[in-house]
Amino acid sequence: MADRDGFIWYDGKLVPWRDATTHVLTHTLHYGMGVFEGVRAYKTTQGTAIFRLEEHTQRLMNSAYIFKMNMPYDKETLMEAQKEVVRANNLESCYLRPIAFYGSEAMGISATKVSTHVAVAAWPWGAYLGAEGMAKGIRVKTSSFTRHHVNVNMCRSKSVGTYTNSILAHQEVAHDGYDEALLLDVDGYVAEGAGENIFIVKKGKLYTPDLTSCLEGITRDTILTLAADLGLEVIQKRITRDEVYCAEEAFFTGTAAEVTPIRELDNRTIGAGCRGPITEKLQSLFFDIVGGKNDKYANWLAHV
Ligand code: PMP
Repeated sequence: MADRDGFIWYDGKLVPWRDATTHVLTHTLHYGMGVFEGVRAYKTTQGTAIFRLEEHTQRLMNSAYIFKMNMPYDKETLMEAQKEVVRANNLESCYLRPIAFYGSEAMGISATKVSTHVAVAAWPWGAYLGAEGMAKGIRVKTSSFTRHHVNVNMCRSKSVGTYTNSILAHQEVAHDGYDEALLLDVDGYVAEGAGENIFIVKKGKLYTPDLTSCLEGITRDTILTLAADLGLEVIQKRITRDEVYCAEEAFFTGTAAEVTPIRELDNRTIGAGCRGPITEKLQSLFFDIVGGKNDKYANWLAHV
């Protein structure tokens, strides 16, 4: 990743990709307090547009606020930085990674003497859980690792430190040949995937875990909006893993994962064992919208 052509926005300036480096004593590298976003830009019928740019940028600001990290740039500057990176790298469709992290002025867990740095990188990234998985569904396993308790980490913040838990879960199940991990909360209820929110379908209704220990996903919010517009009822509640086993359909949502059907959990086939009709409808509406083919949601697209 470090050895590429292109530009990265780094502390207010576009710098050549290979020069966007930082010192090994950078605070975040040692103690894990940093916040980031995952954003996508899509090729639309009217040129490239970043999907829900404002919501992602607001979540980045909120994530920093939760951790009392000083954010040296305002929302407008960060939104413009993301557009600038897409333009500077001539990208039609890409994934964007804004990150705010602490500098190397001091060691020790007190973060009062360290400055905040902000970078935005962008690169082409296809289907996160594989193109085949998008069409046929993926195989998921419940991890033995528990999602953070709401008072162990701050679950509304998309933070660097959260992801050691995601990596542990993912590597555990990937080792056994599964595509992705499902994490349960401290009480044993379904929380989310390692990098995705989860939905299930039962008797034509959608269910998704309420917002306790899962991330308040922007794709989750997109699906909640689309479901309401399609007249589908969505219930946000605690979900058990056996409710997922017996669901008619299940799918993950996330900026990287987009809308990915789940065909199996813990070696139990879900529904017909393929992408279900409601998942397909929402998935295809999602791709129409991000591709600029649906005027109703044109306000979710920020043209670069
Ligand atoms: N949960 C976790 C743990 C994630 O990493 C992500 C990806 N950001 C999501 C849920 C989905 O969030 P979003 O739809 O905003 O990308």
